[in-house]
Amino acid sequence: MADPARVRVWAEALIRMHLGDAPGAPWTFGFDHAKRRAGLCDYTNRRITVSRYLSAKFDDDEIHQVLLHEVAHAMAGSRAGHGPRWKEIAAEIGYVGGRTHTGEIAHERAPWVGRCPAGHEHFRFRRPTRESSCAKCARGFSRAHLIAWSRR
Ligand SMILES: [Zn+2]
Ligand SMILES: [Zn+2]
Repeated sequence: MADPARVRVWAEALIRMHLGDAPGAPWTFGFDHAKRRAGLCDYTNRRITVSRYLSAKFDDDEIHQVLLHEVAHAMAGSRAGHGPRWKEIAAEIGYVGGRTHTGEIAHERAPWVGRCPAGHEHFRFRRPTRESSCAKCARGFSRAHLIAWSRR
């Protein structure tokens, strides 16, 4: 649901804001083709990528969290992993997805998966608190297209 052009604008703004002064070659942003993880921080090529496939499914708020997660990795350095230094930086720049991380592949997927009656998949990083309906099936809220959420 997030428009790739806007995702790119945010990503580049976040990189400028948080990594603009980083020593060495400038950090860049791109899309990748991953289906099982949302974002990646490539320290070798100094490149932050997000899945084009998943970013199309995530809403704006969620893709923003993915970007913050990866920018925090870039700021903290590869050795920090998901340790205290990364956590501190991530929280400082506004990442709120902070649950215990078990591995790059496992945790970078949104934990909440929803399905509308027609089978469209939706993803959330946080427990959905309100009823929501499928935006692919109906514009605006529609009780006939409620999303059923489950935690994976
Ligand atoms: Zn991570
Ligand atoms: Zn649907």
